[in-house]
Amino acid sequence: RIDIAGIPVSPDHFIGGKRVSSPYTFETRCPFDWSWKLADISRGTVTTAAQAAQAATDAFPAWAALSAAERGAYLHRLADLIEANVEKLAMIECLDMGMLLESLRLRVILRGAANFRNYADLATGHEERVWSSRGTLNRVIRMPAGPALIITPWNAPFMLSTWKCAPALAAGNTVILKPADWSPLSASILADLIEEAGFPAGVFNIVQGLGAELGNALTSDPRIKRISFTGSVPTARVIGKAAAENIVPLTAELGGKSPLLVFADADIDAAAKKAAGQYDDSGQVCMAGTRIIVEESVKDEFLAKFHAYADAHVMGDSRDAATTMSALIHPVHVERVLGFIERARAAGDAIVRGGRLWKEGSNWIEPTLIEPKNNQSEVVQSEVFGPVLTFQTFRDEAEGVALANSTAYGLSGIVYTGSAERAERVGRQVRGGTVWVNTFLVRDLTAPFGGIGISGIGREGGDYALDFHSDLKTLQILEGSVV
Ligand code: NAP
Repeated sequence: RIDIAGIPVSPDHFIGGKRVSSPYTFETRCPFDWSWKLADISRGTVTTAAQAAQAATDAFPAWAALSAAERGAYLHRLADLIEANVEKLAMIECLDMGMLLESLRLRVILRGAANFRNYADLATGHEERVWSSRGTLNRVIRMPAGPALIITPWNAPFMLSTWKCAPALAAGNTVILKPADWSPLSASILADLIEEAGFPAGVFNIVQGLGAELGNALTSDPRIKRISFTGSVPTARVIGKAAAENIVPLTAELGGKSPLLVFADADIDAAAKKAAGQYDDSGQVCMAGTRIIVEESVKDEFLAKFHAYADAHVMGDSRDAATTMSALIHPVHVERVLGFIERARAAGDAIVRGGRLWKEGSNWIEPTLIEPKNNQSEVVQSEVFGPVLTFQTFRDEAEGVALANSTAYGLSGIVYTGSAERAERVGRQVRGGTVWVNTFLVRDLTAPFGGIGISGIGREGGDYALDFHSDLKTLQILEGSVV
């Protein structure tokens, strides 16, 4: 075990209820102090993928045969352990991913526990549908599908892993989780808690490694019966091909380029504050409202307030309560984001704030605002996933909505307005799987979540994820034919 800030962390996979190591490793570092190497982690290979697929296959029949309530009891035990280990999980996630410690302690980790509780209860309460028609008694049965592969990105590793693994387990599937190699550590703590919760061996496996190596081997394994992926559009295209080869259902929660649409009748101060809040995680949030689109008549008022809020951001150690803006995850990502800014500058877009590295050798880029030359600018049309927002204006509602809907993405949208009628009307018109009015990121775990267009395939959340992780069967019995 490796000691990280006094917390012992296993660098190994968790397969069939046991820690398994690989001969090769990859390293993980702290985003806000890049000189700090946190750990060398076992780097899974084709062999690791095969071991995990076999363990999940072997464990499947017994897990699937349990009642939903029996499976739910395991999920509740895991939730109890997550709640009891909030401090440890929050610290590891903070050091490994760079997210602000305060937000992890108070909100994010507890949300992980809630994900398990929610699905434990939802699956238990889920009634089979039964009805009579055409002389038969019809029954819709949800059958567990088999081993489910869960692949998560680096930007919210713990929250997303729990959000995606909980419905798979509750539905009666066994799970193989592969976190991203840039933030692998909270999954290792999760493996400790799975063991402590007493899950049967092989029901919940966690493997560590690189997407192109371990990920590829897992997605092409025929023992996998569901793939639930969250990540980028290019990776989804690769995984989609593997899923197609084995005819395996896939959900893909992908990138976004969400609009933050502000009407003149809105609370402009609240809208400006929320817009500057998009810098909090250095913009590394899939649903971030990165295209600020404001009604012309309130442009000056909005911008004055926006800049004041953006100026107040504090960069620094994510463990420090005074820090409000976390670092970018990795120097490679810093370079990628700077590349977007440089290309925007070269193309004639106006960089109206920020645009540079905060300090030489650091992983922060200044909060950046760009007024694009036109709507086709790369920085308007492509996901940057950094602290880079664009600013555009509109003269009437139709133009505002048209701008909001003018990218290939459709993950979410944010609308600020004081009018109930406009909230309903524009809320329906803005393209996105989720549209918030006068708020952001508030989510009900039973509501569907997912993207339109290149932002994804399928829906997670509530019954939608339980359906995805099940094979639905219609059983029809001729009425009067059996006693
Ligand atoms: P990514 O590069 O697509 O990676 C996502 C995961 O896929 C990682 O675990 C990665 O492993 C793995 N992977 C890469 N290539 C693979 C392959 N050939 N086969 C199997 N697995 C493979 O995305 P990211 O950079 O980690 O995350 C950022 C993206 O995720 C952004 O686009 C963001 O918008 C999106 N996102 C979407 C949501 C949502 O709910 N819609 C939520 C959060 C993030 P390695 O990284 O270890 O190589």
